[in-house]
Amino acid sequence: MRANSRLKPPILQVEDVIKYTLRCEAEHAFEGWFSSSGDYDSQHARGLVTCPVCGSAKVDKALMAPAVATSDDRTQMAALGGASEQAEMIARMRDMVRAIRENSEDVGTRFPEEARKIHYGEAAPRGIIGQAARDDIASLLDEGIDIAPLPVLPEDTN
Ligand SMILES: [Zn+2]
Repeated sequence: MRANSRLKPPILQVEDVIKYTLRCEAEHAFEGWFSSSGDYDSQHARGLVTCPVCGSAKVDKALMAPAVATSDDRTQMAALGGASEQAEMIARMRDMVRAIRENSEDVGTRFPEEARKIHYGEAAPRGIIGQAARDDIASLLDEGIDIAPLPVLPEDTN
């Protein structure tokens, strides 16, 4: 245990998990976590994606949340922007993802375990990336552990 309080907490990234900003028919915005776009599609088709405010299942994707800058302002701006702004944002996100990968340790499926060790000061503070199931993500977030999804960018899928 040699926690240095001056260090910023590491940014922990999770792969293969997608966070969507969703909006219901009453314009309530909320976030939903999915293991893939197919997972969202299938849950959405079965009416399992519901608004936490009003319970409506008539929800739609607003836009994928940015990887690190998840402030509401940024999301709002991205949602209002045109195609060129979105392309620019995707380019910025791609640079960010590359930087994250270069500066993080890939811990694979040990992600939840390692994230906890770092959070509770049992391992050296560092950025890590890895995979985690949605249940694990929810538990980590409940414990106040700072994690963020590594976005799957359109150009990455070829
Ligand atoms: Zn609603």
